[in-house]
Amino acid sequence: MVEIAVPDNPFLSAFNLLLDHFGPQCWWPAETPFEVMVGAVLTQNTNWGNVVKAIDNLRQAGLLDYHSLAACLPTDIAALIRPAGYYNLKAQRLVNLLQMVAESYHGELEAFLTDRPTSARENLLAVRGVGPETADSILLYACGRPVFVVDMYTHRVFSRHQLLAEETDYQTIQETFVNHLPVDAQLYNEYHALIVKVATSYCKKTNPRCSLCPLQGFNH
Ligand code: SF4
Repeated sequence: MVEIAVPDNPFLSAFNLLLDHFGPQCWWPAETPFEVMVGAVLTQNTNWGNVVKAIDNLRQAGLLDYHSLAACLPTDIAALIRPAGYYNLKAQRLVNLLQMVAESYHGELEAFLTDRPTSARENLLAVRGVGPETADSILLYACGRPVFVVDMYTHRVFSRHQLLAEETDYQTIQETFVNHLPVDAQLYNEYHALIVKVATSYCKKTNPRCSLCPLQGFNH
């Protein structure tokens, strides 16, 4: 992905610095849009390494497609996704998500994936256990829609650089980024991945490693 040169836009400057330092992140690490949807639920409150184990179990059981997983009992799903933690809760959330596709899209996954973003987002947010971050991750990484994903890392990095207030809600953070960036799914894809990368590499919750970080000195 090429850098975008826009002067006096700290959100684009930060993107360029991160891309220069880390390079393209090639997200989401999944083989199909359905796998992204499953991963977006499984990654809630756990690290990605645990999600990979759970996804591998589903893959080996031949359940990484919509109709196979939809035919599965929640208890069977729970047993397979155990490595991801909160496995009973997450199994039920996956079932809820699949039911939404069954009820709102007549069980046609492609109809969901190609639905208008506003309508798809509304349907996702109506699913019990799917909040804005999970919904937007699915819209961006499974549906390929230009929807900016916000997470705790986004808040941490950009509030530490005084570009977001300490108390800023999800929607306001999302609007702030969208207002400073071109509407571009590939850019949003890369930017969110880079924010996760810098937060997990340098911008830790305690003892951030600023002296080594590509955003050192940025906007300070
Ligand atoms: S580690 Fe320091 S320089 Fe890097 S993003 Fe966090 S606060 Fe900024």
